Amino acid sequence: MKTTYILQVPVSITSYDEIIDTITKTIERKQKYSVVSINLNKIIKANESAEVMKIIKSFDCFIPDGISVVRASKEINDRITGIDLFNKICDEHEKIGAKIFLYGAKQEIVETAKNNLIRKYNNIQIVGIENGYVKDNDYLINKINSSGANIVFIAMGSPKQERWIYENKNKLNANIFIGVGGTFDIISGKLKR
Ligand code: UDP
Repeated sequence: MKTTYILQVPVSITSYDEIIDTITKTIERKQKYSVVSINLNKIIKANESAEVMKIIKSFDCFIPDGISVVRASKEINDRITGIDLFNKICDEHEKIGAKIFLYGAKQEIVETAKNNLIRKYNNIQIVGIENGYVKDNDYLINKINSSGANIVFIAMGSPKQERWIYENKNKLNANIFIGVGGTFDIISGKLKR
C-alpha cells in the first residue's frame, strides 16, 4: 500500500478492494492491522499536537476520508470514508470471516446498530457490543477478548478512538481495529449521513 503525506500526516493511496483483501489476509495470518480515517480536522489536530501525530503514525492504513484530503493530493483520486468501509466489510463479512465487536456511542445506539445489522445481513456475526462511556477498561478488554472478535470497530470521535486503539490493540486478540466516528449513530438510524 502506497503512502503520501499532507502536512506530515500520512494518507494511503489505496482502494476499498485492496483494504478488504488486506483485512482478509491479516485475519488469516493472525496479524494486526489498524485503520484511521484522515480528514482536514485530523491533519490540523496532528499538526497542533505531537501526541496526536505520534498516535496517527502508529496506524497501518490512513484512509482519505475528507474531500479536502482528496483535493490536496494529486495522487489520491477517490475518497474512502469510514462508513463506506464499514458497509463494505459487512457486505463481505462471509468472505472475510468477520467476527465483529462494536465499541462506542450510547448504549441504545450501539444496540440498535447491532439489531439493524443482524436484520440486514444474513448470518453476520456481531459477537459483542459495548457503549463508548464504559469506565472500566480492563473489563472491556476482557469482554472483547472473550467474545472471540477479530474485527473491532471503535466509534467515539477523534482523537479519543485513535488513542484507545493506540493504547489497547496489543492487549487484544482481535486483528483489525478501525476508528469509525459517528458511524453507529448513522447505522442506528439516529443520524442522517
Ligand atoms: N462518543 C463515545 N464516547 C465518548 C465520546 C463520544 O462513545 O466519550 C460517541 C458519541 O456518542 C457519538 C460519537 O462518539 O456516537 C461521536 O462521533 P463524532 O461524530 O463526534 O465523531 P467524528 O466522526 O466527528 O470524529
